[in-house]
Amino acid sequence: MALIVQKYGGTSVGTTERIRNVAAKVKKERDRGNDVIVVVSAMSGETNRLISLAAEIDENPAPREMDVLVSTGEQVTIALLSMALQKLDCDARSYTGGQIRILTDNAHSKARILDISGKAVREDLNAGRVVVVAGFQGVDEHGNITTLGRGGSDTTAVAMAAALKADECQIFTDVDGVYTTDPRVEPRARRLNKITFEEMLEMASLGSKVLQIRAVEFAGKYSVPLRVLSSFEEGEGTLITFEDEVMEEAKISGIAFNRDESQLTVRGVPDQPGIAYKILGPIADANVEIDMIVQNTSQDGTTDFTFTVHRNDYQKALGVLNQVSNDLGGREVKGNDGIVKLSLVGVGMRSHAGIASKMFKALSDEGINICMISTSEIKISVVVDEKYLELGVRSLHETFDLQQA
Ligand code: ASP
Ligand code: MG
Repeated sequence: MALIVQKYGGTSVGTTERIRNVAAKVKKERDRGNDVIVVVSAMSGETNRLISLAAEIDENPAPREMDVLVSTGEQVTIALLSMALQKLDCDARSYTGGQIRILTDNAHSKARILDISGKAVREDLNAGRVVVVAGFQGVDEHGNITTLGRGGSDTTAVAMAAALKADECQIFTDVDGVYTTDPRVEPRARRLNKITFEEMLEMASLGSKVLQIRAVEFAGKYSVPLRVLSSFEEGEGTLITFEDEVMEEAKISGIAFNRDESQLTVRGVPDQPGIAYKILGPIADANVEIDMIVQNTSQDGTTDFTFTVHRNDYQKALGVLNQVSNDLGGREVKGNDGIVKLSLVGVGMRSHAGIASKMFKALSDEGINICMISTSEIKISVVVDEKYLELGVRSLHETFDLQQA
């Protein structure tokens, strides 16, 4: 007998009919003889509705009250789901985060889980009950309600699975798994049967928004096998697991991309110790996150720096950079907020040479100019003009044989 944690997101519990559908799926798992803990989100749209109610009263409400408010969405779902399970003669009990003491720090609206006491849950499971837990919420040491950040129910599910040493944590959502790339860009994208935690983190942080990143990190850290699957269709979904368990011998798992990039360059700054700090320090101080950084080898004692930031931060970063360049006697500042980043992701590239050159050839065959390149152990990223995003993704997808058979 296994212990399975299942998490159903907002669209999966969006109506009472869908809640009944979830209850049927949970019961099916019980009937297989497994113990089940179910973590649910608020019904779809509910969290946003609550947030806008608050905005009608105060543009800047107290974070503590905000958490009391938005945590109610999940409380509705746990009660309705438990009722639906009981109606199917499946014994079930609902709990808020506070009731089972999901202890968090006191950072309202972005709290971190510190500890979960599995005791009450264990007793229920032993008594043959399904335990239904409100996602996204906990309590701090003083009993104040906290929430974990948007999409936080994923993290609740993984944390429950880790605390109770579950055999698998299944995230049911409206997609049927993790794909080789975004099917809206490449219709021939293929669902992956397995992917490693490392790859998933690269894919997720690059914009394949299937799971909350924090949940993936958490699952990797506590060795919780994670599966993403559809609540509407039958299927195996995608298992996120460890490298030695990934049997598919693909070198590359997927193509991630990020549309919202911009690039800034400062030319002709003196090449001396501390220069990178003098340029990038003020950017960081302005709370702008820097992604790729390139420094040229120096010529005549001067050098150039290019870096990328999120497009929303472009104007701010440009302002800071102009100021810094003036102070340092730089020759010119240039920027481009019409660029995107394409990344090839795969643990297989560790043991295979020639992946980068194959990638660059594919792009050059399409006449796509590469503006910047950066690499890590399991990823090669290039910056290109935004007009090449679709073409670039499709040609790489084809070059690395990722399309459906
Ligand atoms: N209901 C919360 C949200 O919409 C948490 C979640 O759905 O995971 O962000
Ligand atoms: Mg979600």
